[in-house]
Amino acid sequence: MKLAVIGSGYVGLVAGACFSNTGNDVTLVDVDPRKIEMLQQGRTPIYEPGLTEVIQRNAAEGRLAFTTDLPSAVASAEVVILAVGTPSAADGTVDMQYIEMAARQVARAMTGYTVVITKSTVPVGAHSRLTELMSGETAQPFDYVANPEFLKEGAAVSDFLKPDRVIIGLTSQRALSIMRHLYAPFMRRSERLLVMDPASAELTKYACNCMLATRISFMNEMARLCDHYGANIDLVRQGMGGDQRIGPDFLYASLGYGGSCFPKDVKALISFGRAAKQPIHIVEAVHAVNELQGEQVFRRISRHFGDKLAGRKFAMWGLAFKAGTDDVRESPAIALAQRLLGAGASLAVHDPQALDTARAALGDKDVAYCRHMYEVLPQADALIVCTEWPEYRSPDFRRMRQTLKQPLIFDGRNLYDLDWMADLGLHYVSVGRPAVGGPK
Ligand code: NAD
Repeated sequence: MKLAVIGSGYVGLVAGACFSNTGNDVTLVDVDPRKIEMLQQGRTPIYEPGLTEVIQRNAAEGRLAFTTDLPSAVASAEVVILAVGTPSAADGTVDMQYIEMAARQVARAMTGYTVVITKSTVPVGAHSRLTELMSGETAQPFDYVANPEFLKEGAAVSDFLKPDRVIIGLTSQRALSIMRHLYAPFMRRSERLLVMDPASAELTKYACNCMLATRISFMNEMARLCDHYGANIDLVRQGMGGDQRIGPDFLYASLGYGGSCFPKDVKALISFGRAAKQPIHIVEAVHAVNELQGEQVFRRISRHFGDKLAGRKFAMWGLAFKAGTDDVRESPAIALAQRLLGAGASLAVHDPQALDTARAALGDKDVAYCRHMYEVLPQADALIVCTEWPEYRSPDFRRMRQTLKQPLIFDGRNLYDLDWMADLGLHYVSVGRPAVGGPK
């Protein structure tokens, strides 16, 4: 089939590349000419494991093309996928300007029957609004399909190729048979296409992200209780995760959740509830706990230094909102860095993939960006671990102890064993676990 994908960010790039990989002719469209130029030159604008290989192979085979010319890409497409951003507006509602603009442009460019799929995360009811808006711009027949995307950054290509399930929200049989055809190559082992009405599909996406965020905030609250009562959140987590009704995923205490999806989707669900005069109390609390968590980690560091951070230097490992990505949108590491800078500290930071994106967020004042993870340590008053990259999991602790100005580590990801750290003589403060090795 001929596909046009509107928006070549984390979702559009992965979806476009993976659909071309199953033999479709895909044109990736973006308004950002730099992104398209990079792609045309064989470079990938984002870091996502395995993505470059899929893009390069399919581009070389002539199945994947890149353009800023939306009308020409849409004119020849049977299927158009909307994958533009739907960020939070200042009041927490969803800012629909990009998707509405893209939908209008698509409608004007269609030349015959088209299936228009929305992969962007859009509010419940967006299907009616977007259908109406497009109908106002075209006389061509089309069917609208809500097809929310569940890929995880850091594992996006494998998630897309082997989805847990694919949610399809539509009302048209004609569109359904095209959707079945499009996804058939991903369903060979077992059928995992769930067909429902568009509103249910739209709400499912928010419900999933908010449930996952709920687990994280819940564990962060348990971690605070652990701190108070001298319990260990890791043991509590293992005890909980071993219960098959609960399972082990998304039970890690940390600096809080971040990224381009959870924070905005949590705020959006809160706004849907308020608009419906059905406040979603749990999700309101999830958001409040997450805000508090970032603040608490900062306060813990600040208290350690008698609330005098001006002139201190901190080493940071990890800036991306999680391992496996260069995405720093709403990253708790960036928020913590900003708090430390705001208090007058300076930083030396490392991240295996996110140095450039972090520089765009933090700027150069009082921040040294280091290509090597041990380069951040000299003269630092403490090391703060913010992202769970594999290379931080088993580092050279002796070297760290010798290089840091004082052997102090704040770990926002609970990466290290408490006994191990105590034996090494490191003062180690993690989340929801007893501090070890500090002054007696
Ligand atoms: P992104 O910001 O990385 O990419 C969006 C792209 O759309 C940008 O490159 C932008 O330039 C382009 N764009 C905007 N308007 C355009 C237009 N009119 N024509 C062509 N291109 C246009 O965003 P993303 O992270 O890929 O997210 C896209 C959507 O998918 C959001 O709704 C998000 O909530 C959802 N989503 C994201 C993820 C994720 O992990 N990032 C996962 C699931 C769902």
